[in-house]
Amino acid sequence: MPERKQNLNVGVIGGGIAGLTAALSLRKFGHEVTIYERYHYAGEVGASLSCASNGGRLLKELGVPLLETRPVILKKLIKRQFDNGEITGVYDLGDYEESFGVPYYNVHRIDIHELLLKCALDENGEGVPCKLLVDHKALNVDTESGKISFENGHEATHDLIVAADGIRSLTREQIGNPPDFKPSTSCCFRCLFNTKDVVAKGLTDFSKNEAIEYWWRGTPGPSGIDKIVMSPCKGGEVISCYCFYPAVKNDLRIGGWNDEASVEELCGTFPDLDAKVLDLFKIAYDIKQWRLYVHQPYEHWQKGKVVMMGDAIHPMMPDQSLGAVTAIEDAFAIGYIFSDRFKFSVPDGLRLYERVRKPRATRIQAASLRARENLNERIGWSSKDNDRPDKLTITEICGYDIKADIEEQAKQMGIL
Ligand SMILES: Cc1cc2nc3c(=O)[nH]c(=O)nc-3n(C[C@H](O)[C@H](O)[C@H](O)COP(=O)(O)OP(=O)(O)OC[C@H]3O[C@@H](n4cnc5c(N)ncnc54)[C@H](O)[C@@H]3O)c2cc1C
Repeated sequence: MPERKQNLNVGVIGGGIAGLTAALSLRKFGHEVTIYERYHYAGEVGASLSCASNGGRLLKELGVPLLETRPVILKKLIKRQFDNGEITGVYDLGDYEESFGVPYYNVHRIDIHELLLKCALDENGEGVPCKLLVDHKALNVDTESGKISFENGHEATHDLIVAADGIRSLTREQIGNPPDFKPSTSCCFRCLFNTKDVVAKGLTDFSKNEAIEYWWRGTPGPSGIDKIVMSPCKGGEVISCYCFYPAVKNDLRIGGWNDEASVEELCGTFPDLDAKVLDLFKIAYDIKQWRLYVHQPYEHWQKGKVVMMGDAIHPMMPDQSLGAVTAIEDAFAIGYIFSDRFKFSVPDGLRLYERVRKPRATRIQAASLRARENLNERIGWSSKDNDRPDKLTITEICGYDIKADIEEQAKQMGIL
């Protein structure tokens, strides 16, 4: 196999968490990167995002100053009874940083997105600053020549194309993965509260617990679908809530996650929920609602000069809170594989990437689906019993050594 040229000219499709982190990682490891984003970013949305240490450690290594987002450092996971909020379980994260190297951060999605963008474009960072082209919706990729064709008529050719174009990826099918998804049993609201409003109104201030808190009915299966997931971010000033409910309630068909919903819809969906949470719902803002879709694992992660990452290739249920950090692992991996440490050709590097990333992401994807209706499958809670080999453990996720995995797999492939 011919050695690759030293500095690759890389096109990244999609400027979400996966695409921006991949751009940053490739930049740091010596490549020239152009990010193509279909929008202007004006519509960036979101609530909280927990950044487990497998993501946090890699962001640190990439020089991302995560503290600028004023994250909340999570101290506990708290499980509560759905109807009265009584605590039924606590998973203590007290020794998390000591065990895994960095804290378990909870950030606001918009803040981490802005920070990654700033780092990718920063004139002063390591390597050549990435270029960002907005209003560039990629329509087609030529896997052999590396050409991307955009809706606006522009075309660009790259040595490597990173497709990080999200759950509705157009690239996925173009590299040989027919769509394979169906509506899940669940829909979800998300909403925010300002802690100062909570306090001013004398409501229960859950931000003080510095925890991810779950209101759950306690039984896996259809009645396990209902779940409220609450956590503070932005230095505790904002409390974010994800509220899952059975899709049969309204058979919602809308696919985006930016569709407005009302306080009445939110409260009306959970009539028997803990009154303290229902009171908070009455002062909620930025209430959105969407249907969740279950994707089966996709077969092909790379073809020719194209490699896929993030939700574009392993969309998962949000119930392990691991989608973004798995994308961050993908993104770090692609930079590291094409770093000076190795001299892999593009085809070898991409085969190695697929070999390392696919089994791990697929395992997380399957465990995320199980956790949709069974909170006991969520890392932390799942660590209690080691009764099944497919059960995800907090150690395998948060303590993952991605560099060692890459080197081991490269040896097994006979390319190192
Ligand atoms: C309710 C919920 C809670 C979650 N909580 C957590 C959590 O706590 N922790 C965690 O780790 N993960 C969490 N996740 C998962 C996480 O949000 C996603 O896995 C992550 O944001 C995926 O990032 P991405 O960059 O792959 O995709 P996206 O964020 O979807 O980004 C894709 C980007 O590509 C652009 N794009 C799309 N098509 C094109 C095109 N054709 N041309 C150019 N650009 C294009 C889009 O505009 C977008 O900017 C949660 C998800 C949900 C739904």
